[in-house]
Amino acid sequence: MFESVRIGQAEKAEFVIVAKFADAELAPAYRKHALAGAIKAAAGRPESTGEPGRIGEAFDERSGVRVVCVGLGKKKKFQPGDLRTIAAGAGRRAAAVKARSVRMEFGPALEQAGADEADAGRAAGEAFGLLSWNNLAFKGKASDGAAAKRQPLTIGGGGKAFGKGLALGLALAESANLTRTLSETPPNIATPMWMAEQARRLANDTGMKCRVFAGQDLERERFTGLINVGKASENKPCMIRLEYTPPKKSKQPPAVLIGKTMTYDTGGLSLKVNNGMVGMKRDKDGGCAVLGAMHAIATTIRPNRRVVALLAAAENSISDEAYRPDDVITYRNGVTVEVTNTDAEGRLVLCDLLADADADQPAVLMDFATLTGAARVALGPDLPAMFASHDGLAQALLRAGEAAHDPCWRLPLWAGYAGWIDSKVADMNNVSARPMAGSIVAALYLQRFVSPTTEWAHFDVYAWNDADRPGRPEGGEAQAMRGCFEMLRTRFAD
Ligand SMILES: [Zn+2]
Repeated sequence: MFESVRIGQAEKAEFVIVAKFADAELAPAYRKHALAGAIKAAAGRPESTGEPGRIGEAFDERSGVRVVCVGLGKKKKFQPGDLRTIAAGAGRRAAAVKARSVRMEFGPALEQAGADEADAGRAAGEAFGLLSWNNLAFKGKASDGAAAKRQPLTIGGGGKAFGKGLALGLALAESANLTRTLSETPPNIATPMWMAEQARRLANDTGMKCRVFAGQDLERERFTGLINVGKASENKPCMIRLEYTPPKKSKQPPAVLIGKTMTYDTGGLSLKVNNGMVGMKRDKDGGCAVLGAMHAIATTIRPNRRVVALLAAAENSISDEAYRPDDVITYRNGVTVEVTNTDAEGRLVLCDLLADADADQPAVLMDFATLTGAARVALGPDLPAMFASHDGLAQALLRAGEAAHDPCWRLPLWAGYAGWIDSKVADMNNVSARPMAGSIVAALYLQRFVSPTTEWAHFDVYAWNDADRPGRPEGGEAQAMRGCFEMLRTRFAD
């Protein structure tokens, strides 16, 4: 939509956004505004009903400024985070009329509702920041040059607290946009090694440490799941390790984030059929979300705690070297797994990293994976399934998700189903023979590689928007990421 969005001088903006509630008079402070006439006209338009996201427009004849009045819904129901979608709608309008500068004047309306200015600014900043993302990178000469028509935008306005929030939101959107770009990149480019290059570049740009384990390093570390799942492809697997160190050095154990990074998933020899393979470039989205989170952690959140990211990157392909149904894999911790379905590869690579991270007794361990279709059947595209070994961690994640407008839904680690993955030939099977509770059974599988004392959470994410909505552009979505670093920010604040 926009080529870029940054904070700038907003006094002379050509596009001014004000707001009103559905069940309240236009805030009196707007009456004293230099653009009072146009504000009154915009708010008085019949389409300006005050319902969430509804827009009424008017021009200030003298200055030529376009005034847009957006609806905030009912006053009692309003939350600052609602601006993520409401401001995104106004931003789309600004793009449609080719505005180059936007000033937001939500203050008088926010005051009516007693809403927090900083939170509102953050939500608006995220909304506008996300509008600078596009998926035009692979449009060629035969397209209409949509990329060339985009222009830069400056935004500003509001008081000090709003402005601070705006800058924070814009920065967080940049991290989410990184996740989206990685997610969109097609599998002939985004190979495991390409993902490693992106991580290296991110580390260089933000002062983090990066190490990539491939070939003999993987053998030495005995990441047997990753080696087996990735061995059929000419794009060899790797494990990517990123580390953020806070300015104040501490010896406390780190928080660890793990991402499933399957750069392509054919299903392996248990091949995906009936065109079920299309879109499987998104099987790397757990890793893409973790890289976006590390970007935010290193540039914006800067928690007072070490944070380590581990990405299991591989391509699940087919060849005469492919691992097979009936194979038995022995893990570094001595646990053996019988492979019954090579399309259940995510859990095979995740448990390498879970076992590795768990051995170091992390402060908190979280993994993100596009793991099961069953989670989608249960919760649909908007809500990632979250499993947690400790109730306190679950509550903190649910709260943080709500605060960051990035909700998740807790599903149970129902011990009664644990026997479903028992194997006759090995310690366990990689799938259950029963076609039920697939997301729960996958989580129970992972749980066997984590000590009961470790605070562990597993996110089964969808990680993309299959429809275009304000604040949620179609394409890769950094699902559960904002909730996760909101939790880290609160938990490791000092
Ligand atoms: Zn699969």
